[in-house]
Amino acid sequence: MKETRKGMLLVISGPSGAGKGTLVARLLDHDPTFAFSVSVTTRGRRENEIEDVHYHFISDEEYDKLLEEDAFLEHASVHGHRYGTLKSEVYDRMERGQNVLLDIDPQGARAVMEKDPDCVSVFVLPPSYHELKVRLHSRNTEKEEEIQRRLHNARGEIAQMGRYRYLIVNDQIELAYEQLAAIVRAEKQNTVRYFPEIGE
Ligand code: 5GP
Repeated sequence: MKETRKGMLLVISGPSGAGKGTLVARLLDHDPTFAFSVSVTTRGRRENEIEDVHYHFISDEEYDKLLEEDAFLEHASVHGHRYGTLKSEVYDRMERGQNVLLDIDPQGARAVMEKDPDCVSVFVLPPSYHELKVRLHSRNTEKEEEIQRRLHNARGEIAQMGRYRYLIVNDQIELAYEQLAAIVRAEKQNTVRYFPEIGE
């Protein structure tokens, strides 16, 4: 049997600390049909981050130049830093039938959902605001002021969860990952991207 597939654009979003990163890493580990879209950011690199793997870390001037060149599929200021998804990370791959994964903030997710209604949007929720606070403190990557800012932003982001096609509450990572894998499995068979040609 011959079959053709169009690439899936999977947009994973959610408040900072909901555990998107773990879900994204697992999916990339388990499913070789997905490529991660490496964003650009003007924020500084954290110790555990690898240039061009987690982000392309760039200066404000370089970011302005990309804006001028219309290089972004979407871009946003998040928690005081600038982030953007490069068109070059997304379109060519999708045309070749590859699935592309975006881990972006809710402003960016909204822009992508408007541009591409066939994208598969998934919002990841923490089980409670209390747990979100605990997670933000325990990962030890932000200062207190920054944590407070992220917690404040989370309320507004969660209020918009109805815009997404799917919701996952990340209480237990095993269950949350199983739910993400089920979404992906079903969406691979969606008629917008799956074109089997059966024999006579
Ligand atoms: P962090 O600085 O903790 O890596 O990311 C902060 C937030 O920025 C996260 O919600 C992350 O998903 C989001 N983010 C990362 N890359 C992009 C991007 O290219 N565009 C948008 N809109 N948000 C992004």
